[in-house]
Amino acid sequence: MQYTTLNNGVEMPLLGFGVYQIPADDTERAVSEALAAGYRLLDTAAAYGNEEAVGCAIGSSGIAREDLFVTTKLWVQDAPAEDNTRRAAETSLTKLGLDHLDLYLMHQPYGDVYGQWRAMESLHREGLAKAIGVANFYPDRLLDLIINNEVTPAVNQIETHPFFQRADYQELMREHGVQIQSWGGFAEGKNDLFTNPLLTEIGKEHGKSVAQVVLRWLTQRGVVAIPKSVRAERMAENLDVLDFELTDEQMARIATLDTGASLFFDHHDPEIVAWISGRRLEA
Ligand code: NAP
Repeated sequence: MQYTTLNNGVEMPLLGFGVYQIPADDTERAVSEALAAGYRLLDTAAAYGNEEAVGCAIGSSGIAREDLFVTTKLWVQDAPAEDNTRRAAETSLTKLGLDHLDLYLMHQPYGDVYGQWRAMESLHREGLAKAIGVANFYPDRLLDLIINNEVTPAVNQIETHPFFQRADYQELMREHGVQIQSWGGFAEGKNDLFTNPLLTEIGKEHGKSVAQVVLRWLTQRGVVAIPKSVRAERMAENLDVLDFELTDEQMARIATLDTGASLFFDHHDPEIVAWISGRRLEA
């Protein structure tokens, strides 16, 4: 495995396993298979409803805690968010069966963002989260958070795939010491990603699948990737991507696929803001 060093010295695997949209009753099996395949970074969220199952798989894996990198995410909290955030973190830790998280992310740039962040800073200082970061923050929101708070987010997990590449934003994050992490690295298969002719052609040049080309393209750019699959053979395929290098010419060809726009939702769109902000998790 290759690692990236976060702005507070924590080592994070470049490749991990995401569990969004895996039903809770299938998550323990999927995560157990992912751990057996060799994944050590697990990415879940309170909002996914499967933290408990992730915890069961961790518990029965026999893998030492220090060899795992576990991320979960705080859902949107109302003001004043300090107490809610601490309660939410404790609930996640209990469900996961852990005494600390490796990375705790604010899932959305909504609600009492400052209150949530200050509470996350406290959790970090107490060692309950080795690193804290954000997800779905666009440049304006990220800069505002960095400038006006003590701890700079270690990670920003954002939609990043061949059709929405975020190269300029990655550069800005690098300048501020924020590690970019891709969600939806395969664009969840949208735009016929897995049969894209250009990616297929590059895959043939290396004897690799489209999925492997995409994951190599991300990791070679220094983007942490967390592909999701419920199928053991794909879990193994998605992990087998660090033994080849894309050439500069191949990277340049993949750059031509960028549309510069989300395939999912724009976090600046008022309807999306209202929709996501309106959701609350049961305590
Ligand atoms: P994704 O990884 O882009 O795509 C998953 C899809 O690709 C599934 O349909 C999967 O099908 C298929 N797939 C996986 N490996 C494949 C392969 N080798 N060949 C062909 N098809 C393959 O989607 P995602 O789950 O949305 O994103 C990844 C992770 O990012 C999530 O699990 C979650 O942890 C995180 N995420 C975070 C946010 C956020 O707001 N922070 C939002 C979305 C996602 P099968 O399962 O049937 O194999």
